[in-house]
Amino acid sequence: MQRDTKNVHWVVRMNRRNRTWCGLLLFGTMVSHLVTKETGALTWVLLVAQYFAYPQLVYLYARRASRPMRAEMNNLLLDGFCFGVWAAVLGFPIWITFIFLVTVTVNMTVFRGKPGFVQAIAAMTAGALVAIVAGGFHFSPETGWPATILSILTISIYVLVVADSAYHRAVSLHEAREQIRANEQALMHKLEQISALEAQLREQANRDPLTGLFNRRFFDATLEREIARCKRDGHSLSVVMIDVDHFKKINDTYGHQAGDEVLRLLGSILGEGVRASDVVCRFGGEEFLVLLPSMGTQAAQERAEQWRIAFSTTSVLLSRDKIGATFSAGIATYPDNCPQPEALVECADASLYCAKKEGRNRIVVSGDNVAVPT
Ligand code: GH3
Ligand code: MG
Ligand code: MG
Repeated sequence: MQRDTKNVHWVVRMNRRNRTWCGLLLFGTMVSHLVTKETGALTWVLLVAQYFAYPQLVYLYARRASRPMRAEMNNLLLDGFCFGVWAAVLGFPIWITFIFLVTVTVNMTVFRGKPGFVQAIAAMTAGALVAIVAGGFHFSPETGWPATILSILTISIYVLVVADSAYHRAVSLHEAREQIRANEQALMHKLEQISALEAQLREQANRDPLTGLFNRRFFDATLEREIARCKRDGHSLSVVMIDVDHFKKINDTYGHQAGDEVLRLLGSILGEGVRASDVVCRFGGEEFLVLLPSMGTQAAQERAEQWRIAFSTTSVLLSRDKIGATFSAGIATYPDNCPQPEALVECADASLYCAKKEGRNRIVVSGDNVAVPT
């Protein structure tokens, strides 16, 4: 049954091809030499076996081996040994011996470098010595002109085949490297996109989509950090809680979209009027919270007053409507008027409640007639 040769190691496949086709040429060369000599039947049989059966047998051996490359190196050494035997048996004809020497040494050197060259020479010498010991030494260096021409042709074709293989291998290596580089670049690009998306998602997870301000989740996490910091460093920490006055009425009168525009306006006033270390968040609905690290009551009150004036004097233009609104705010500061930093939001909320009760559009500081939650 024919097995799929694509799974066979490329060196095994390449050497089978070289052994088969270059072997045929070498066979022709040796035949043209042997016909000029008195050659026994056994030599002819062995010659046919060498060039027709041997390439397939060593191919099968390497193909079935668990380590095909190693098996193929053994095959190359066996090639060298056989060629040594043939060279000695034929009486070292110069052209044919030269072909043996070049093919075996080039093959081994391609795969093993200089040690391969030495191993090839050793294998050939071993083969030649075995033949000399078995059959005696004789020396007959000349070849007739047909064998000489065929030798030149054979060696030229062999060198061309080896060079062509090397060229194709270099080209496919270059292409593979280029492909790897292109894949790497595509991968880097994808990774950059993923990390940009991750950053975007992280940012979105902390933001309120309507105003672009931070959301409550982010505020809670930051408040925890700032509380730990102000306790450690003994700094002040102020929280301003803001609620738009009669916001429901704006929605009811001008519509939900108008209400959204009013929230955006307040969001931009608050967002522009803070330091980089401050955190402005939309707490929910029409309520906003501003965290002011290292800021005492008075400064927080002045800041909130600026926001209040800015908001109450700016209108939202929608179609033909000019929509104005105000807000009320409650301020709590640790340690000035809120001894427990964990209760800052609660204190600010209580002050906001007072501001609403006292008539809205005003700011109330915790402690000014406000019951501080314990
Ligand atoms: P007060 O002065 O006491 O705060 O009265 P108010 O009307 O502002 O407060 P109330 O809690 O009665 O109404 C808040 C309204 O805010 C109700 C809700 O429909 C509206 N609201 C909540 N979130 C949004 C929003 O994202 N967009 C709009 N347009 N309205 C919202
Ligand atoms: Mg409210
Ligand atoms: Mg309100």
